[in-house]
Amino acid sequence: MPTLTVRTRSRTEFVDITADVRQAVRASGVRSGLCVVYCPHTTAAVTIQENADPDVVRDMLLWLNQHIPKDVPGFRHAEGNSDAHIKASLVGPSVTIPVEDGDLTFGTWQGVYLCEFDGARNRTVRVKVWGESSGSVG
Ligand code: ZN
Repeated sequence: MPTLTVRTRSRTEFVDITADVRQAVRASGVRSGLCVVYCPHTTAAVTIQENADPDVVRDMLLWLNQHIPKDVPGFRHAEGNSDAHIKASLVGPSVTIPVEDGDLTFGTWQGVYLCEFDGARNRTVRVKVWGESSGSVG
């Protein structure tokens, strides 16, 4: 199963990983099936969102940080990153994308993002693709 390593550069950040996921789908040889993008972390997540206007994910991050601030009276988790755990659970650890003709069936404005909530650090994303391969590839 392909594993992507994503270097994040801020405490909270959305990183567009669409090109890497597409590459993993192509490398799998699967023509028709499913692609699961899975983030094995408790303070990061993955989502599908618009990748045409970068202000969309910027505004999402602004809203999440405003509504789930780092320091909330009563938080007890000793690492001090309870906000990151909450954000990761709300956004979710995985997305599933149908694959047809050997490619993601994304809409025109869709991309897949790693959502960093406690960076900066190196993150792992697993890409599992399965389904039917055609007889001739490439
Ligand atoms: Zn923690």
